[in-house]
Amino acid sequence: MHHMTLAEIARGLADKKFSSVELTQTLLARIAQLDPQINSFISLTQDLALSQAKAADERRANGESGALLGAPIAHKDLFCTQGIRTSCGSKMLDNFKAPYDATVVAKLAAAGAVTLGKTNMDEFAMGSANESSWYGAVKNPWNLEHVPGGSSGGSAAAVAARLLPAATATDTGGSIRQPAAFTNLTGLKPTYGRVSRWGMIAYASSLDQGGPLARTAEDCAILLQGMAGFDPNDSTSIDEPVPDYSAGLNGSLQGLRIGVPKEYFSAGLDPRIAELIHNSIKELEKLGAVIKQISLPNMQHAIPAYYVIAPAEASSNLSRFDGVRFGYRCENPENLEDLYKRSRGEGFGSEVQRRIMVGAYALSAGYYDAYYLKAQKIRRLVKNDFMSAFNEVDIILGPTTPNPAWKLGAKSSDPVAAYLEDVYTITANLAGLPGLSMPAGFVDGLPVGVQLLAPYFQEGRLLNVAHQYQLNTDWHTRTPTGF
Ligand code: GLN
Repeated sequence: MHHMTLAEIARGLADKKFSSVELTQTLLARIAQLDPQINSFISLTQDLALSQAKAADERRANGESGALLGAPIAHKDLFCTQGIRTSCGSKMLDNFKAPYDATVVAKLAAAGAVTLGKTNMDEFAMGSANESSWYGAVKNPWNLEHVPGGSSGGSAAAVAARLLPAATATDTGGSIRQPAAFTNLTGLKPTYGRVSRWGMIAYASSLDQGGPLARTAEDCAILLQGMAGFDPNDSTSIDEPVPDYSAGLNGSLQGLRIGVPKEYFSAGLDPRIAELIHNSIKELEKLGAVIKQISLPNMQHAIPAYYVIAPAEASSNLSRFDGVRFGYRCENPENLEDLYKRSRGEGFGSEVQRRIMVGAYALSAGYYDAYYLKAQKIRRLVKNDFMSAFNEVDIILGPTTPNPAWKLGAKSSDPVAAYLEDVYTITANLAGLPGLSMPAGFVDGLPVGVQLLAPYFQEGRLLNVAHQYQLNTDWHTRTPTGF
């Protein structure tokens, strides 16, 4: 049962081949057996899962239907879940039980999805390797000595290991697409404002966006359908109708104009990945797509701009964790200042502290113009590059990452080396555009992703292209040995 996709589960439940309770029990047993190898969960919610599964079975027995009704999923542990620990991968929030459900959690629960647990993640979503979690590193099911990518590494590893069919994730600079690439999954970062951020613990508010991680584009369509939509509780949520993503999967790619930026194939890209990307381009050409070379001239400035803007917003967002209102508080503080200093010093890990310091510095009087303001100007240039590219093409295609998943610990002592791996993903966050990563082959037994970017609110186009590609390739069906 664990090999089924969301779409297959929906059909099986509708045809009464099995119940949601049976499926949930099977997957919970599988998690108990296999998760110790990969550490993809921070919390399991067995009781909640079984009661949600039972309720879903009853709703189906009463004639209700729906692709998510009775479907098991998990949430990245930064989506608030009422009465359940929501840790953000941090010691700071190890004792935090959210008093309410995030909009995404509430919407998916209302659609009948069953929550198996909360997945491991880089602390406060800062990272690309899932090594900064206070709950320990997550291992890549394709090779347990390698990282699964981050920051949504727990969601990715769990889905790749067939512990469950799909999970929620978030992407501030690539954290849905990059772990998707590293674990042979399909992951979609929606347009900024498409999915509510209410109850999603903030890292960098102008960049953060929730989205689905699954094995196929078809499943991403199903999960996104349950997540997307206007939310008056999120002031940056956009009141734009949500199309039927599943209905749009079968459009023809005849005449689709695909832009391939020449800057993507520079020295930093592993030539074996470049070759796989070219193969995927050929595959799409066979389906009728037309390829055009384009240019994104400001791409080279995106990493420095992102690593000013994201820490600046993080330093502001994380100031609320002060040991007073909620979260970790140090033992026996001598006075108020000592309480602040030690609670934050002991509660946050080193990567989070580094970013708070970088962000506070960039925002400080005297440096604001030189760093923050300049980074915002670059952000606009990056967006303008995309706007002119999308005058000529319908989607942009390239690698998701310059290299496959690295070995655990390989970049731990060199944060900048890890930051450079984000080169292909962060531009979409700076511009607010939707992006998708899908499986495109393997290098040394490790998965490689191809990234597609589209104009605002064209998630449906991304899913359509990815689905057609997946109907004609089988990379996404490959399963890691042992799982
Ligand atoms: N790797 C990037 C960072 O560390 C992106 C993380 C994310 O998307 N949450 O900021």
